[in-house]
Amino acid sequence: MLNHGRDIVSIPGPSILPDRVRTALARPMPNIYSGDLLEVSDRLLGRLPGIARTEGHPFVITSNGHGAWQMAIANTLVPGDKVLVLESGRFARLWGEYAAMAGVDVETLDGDYRSPVDPERVHDRLLRDDGSIAAVLVAHTDTSSSVRNDLLAIRAAIDEAGHRALLMVDCIASIACDQFEMDAWRVDVAVSASQKGLMCPPGLALVWAGDRAVERFRSLPLDRPRVAYFDWENRLVPRAFYDTYAGTPPVAHLYALDAALDLIDEEGGLDKVWARHVVLAGAVRAAVEAWSTPGGISFNVESEDHRSNAVTSVLTGEIDAARLSNFCQDELGVTLGIGVANAPDRSFRLGHMGHLNPHMILGTIGAVETALVTMNAPFADSGVAAAAEVIGRSSFTTR
Ligand SMILES: *Cc1c(COP(=O)(O)O)cnc(C)c1O
Repeated sequence: MLNHGRDIVSIPGPSILPDRVRTALARPMPNIYSGDLLEVSDRLLGRLPGIARTEGHPFVITSNGHGAWQMAIANTLVPGDKVLVLESGRFARLWGEYAAMAGVDVETLDGDYRSPVDPERVHDRLLRDDGSIAAVLVAHTDTSSSVRNDLLAIRAAIDEAGHRALLMVDCIASIACDQFEMDAWRVDVAVSASQKGLMCPPGLALVWAGDRAVERFRSLPLDRPRVAYFDWENRLVPRAFYDTYAGTPPVAHLYALDAALDLIDEEGGLDKVWARHVVLAGAVRAAVEAWSTPGGISFNVESEDHRSNAVTSVLTGEIDAARLSNFCQDELGVTLGIGVANAPDRSFRLGHMGHLNPHMILGTIGAVETALVTMNAPFADSGVAAAAEVIGRSSFTTR
């Protein structure tokens, strides 16, 4: 057994915790009515709009991403409203199921889990709408398929149809991994969570609301069913610090997220973080490309322009993906993400989000290649060599 060292979890979230985030989590509980915590909270709330590139309002909730979905629905939609869900994997559809449970009428533009949402179809559907669609729900990166959607094109499709639907985007896997510009792309509501690009444990969810979304919230009938904990009213205009978090703040997570945002600042801001993700994701894609061979490895997402920089879904053809993953975990100390929803036994996913450097990503790629060797599985060329080329020749390393 060679596996005696530090394991690495290369799944698409929860991602790896930086040591400084772990240290922040270990801080003793403070006074929650005055002092340091309030400063941390103010600083954090001041920085959060920048993370989504918006001047909209940030909400912080004690929940996972599913709670963020719920907050978005609870404050913009009422029973009988209609939403259009744009499918490119599992997550937008699941968000739609939450909307359906809130009494919302859900229509889904089906996708095939291998290609992005087609803005043309969105345009055509909205052109035919009688104005009953209140919102369009889409995942920026659908982690289950690793498709990254073109939000700007989707926004343009809505506008060109002359439609007033809100654009609500799940950025759980893209925030701090892939460029996301809430205001420039005129996204009305963005939802995210702490455990992916933001390098924190699961348990904190984030929602950003732009002006149009807040306007809609204010225009909803007052006798509608409301979800008290998630309701925007008190959170938008808190009478006390306590209201901002609807009760005791998620203290440890606030410290942790503040530390994670320090790391992002020290790296040089989001642009630098995105650029690093481009290189490291590029290394993974170069490896997959190099391995690719008929009957063996291939990309799940066919279009190069729609592959996420946070996660890569890899189809394994005739190679038994469970055997490959088990070997990586048990013998090599690398945990791969479970397969794609449309091919669970013949695929795996590699997360490359957040706190990641070249040796970590090369280690993961090397582990997969080692597994292919051990299994006598077919692959065309060395993925490790291809990844080293990408990293070695990137603008980061040739300076
Ligand atoms: C991880 C993820 C989710 C689910 O988040 P939870 O914290 O498990 O609720 C939803 N959407 C996307 C795009 C994700 O990556």
